[in-house]
Amino acid sequence: MTLTEKILARAAGKAHVQAGDNVWVDADILMTHDVCGPGTIGVFKREFGQNAKVWNKDRVVIIPDHYIFTCDPKSNRNVDILREFVREQGITYFYDVIDDPAGSWRFDPAAGPVKRQHGSHYAGVCHVALPQKGHTRPGEVLFGTDSHTCMAGAFNEFATGIGNTDAGFVLGTGKLLLKVPATMHFRLEGKLQPGVMAKDIILHLIGEIGFDGATYRALQFSGSGIPHLSMDDRMTIANMAIEAGAKNGIFPFDGRTAEYVDSRTRLNGTKTTYDPVEPDPDQNFVFEHVIELDKLEPTVACHPDPARRRLAKELGHVKLDRAYIGSCTGGKTSDFVEFARILRGKRVAIDTFGVPATPEIVHELKSTRWGGKPVWEILVDAGVHLTENPGCAACLGGPLDTFGRVNSPLKCISTTNRNFPGRMGHKESQVFLASPATVAASAVAGRIVDPREYS
Ligand code: SF4
Repeated sequence: MTLTEKILARAAGKAHVQAGDNVWVDADILMTHDVCGPGTIGVFKREFGQNAKVWNKDRVVIIPDHYIFTCDPKSNRNVDILREFVREQGITYFYDVIDDPAGSWRFDPAAGPVKRQHGSHYAGVCHVALPQKGHTRPGEVLFGTDSHTCMAGAFNEFATGIGNTDAGFVLGTGKLLLKVPATMHFRLEGKLQPGVMAKDIILHLIGEIGFDGATYRALQFSGSGIPHLSMDDRMTIANMAIEAGAKNGIFPFDGRTAEYVDSRTRLNGTKTTYDPVEPDPDQNFVFEHVIELDKLEPTVACHPDPARRRLAKELGHVKLDRAYIGSCTGGKTSDFVEFARILRGKRVAIDTFGVPATPEIVHELKSTRWGGKPVWEILVDAGVHLTENPGCAACLGGPLDTFGRVNSPLKCISTTNRNFPGRMGHKESQVFLASPATVAASAVAGRIVDPREYS
């Protein structure tokens, strides 16, 4: 069996499953957020009753992160609905925006979008917060009401996005009926050259197979390149499995996985035990492909879909209006560090916004010093508008007052993961997806450039 089949067989209580089988699987974790949580709660109450209780209060993780730092009253209300449900159900893991469990959330426009407005429990973007807070474990099944839930496949687990109706059912029962996806196998061989990042691997891969090239399939990664990829790198790659239509993406378990998961579960007091899956000798793949990492070059996905692949060096004619670093895919500490490495001592030529994915990342950028200067300050000195309020922000547009939102028909280069029309705001804007290195160099040049020219 493939890694995905092994996890689903175990979660279904079966010795063996194969692609195409329909099986009932037990969920280890259900995650929801402020956009889909209220709808999921509505389905749960309608189907299971107003007084129903969730199947397991320790396995439901609620992370407001999408439309948070906005004056939009409906968005603020969504966070309050989550809080009321958590109180009613006694849910253990809720990463609220405010500290008062009886309070209500209001964004203060007078204080502005840059200075911190969240409390001490807030965790930021769900897909980065889940591993940081110790909720991702090898061999487990994670469902989330968000398409990029597949990011947790970096940790050798089956992780996939589901809709509100399915999530309402999981809330009530802890189970879901799933068709076992066929697995596509990608061997990542060799090592990336300087200036080339994990984002370039996944943009290259999606360009190879198309934005629907893996529809309802699992992407399984292996190869000599894996040990060179950090957990952040693996998360970037697994995150964008959905941009090729995949059900999930999954990495093998190794010492790096164990080190990350063990430290995070211990730190946060979450469940420390897990059972990874190892590859079998007799796996059935529907597709096999080798990517030679040392041959990859900085890559860009052009407007309007993530498979419109070009090399950054071929796009020097594309003038830009804006650059953006943030999101679950490209707003991690390592993303900002690479971004800062290129920007250090330089100035951006276009409006450049930075939104760290989580408060922990804000802290790391402020406390990591290069030559006596915090990385945060290096970025601010380079002209980057940085916010202390982590979240999804302009990655998916959001309400009009969202920090960094593209409110007019601009051309924006971004470390985010999706560039369908209107994704970051204005429906006539254009979004070019690239690595943090390519976005940083392009912000300096005011046009798309190969970051190796700016290292
Ligand atoms: S950062 Fe963007 S892609 Fe990630 S969860 Fe938020 S909206 Fe979705």
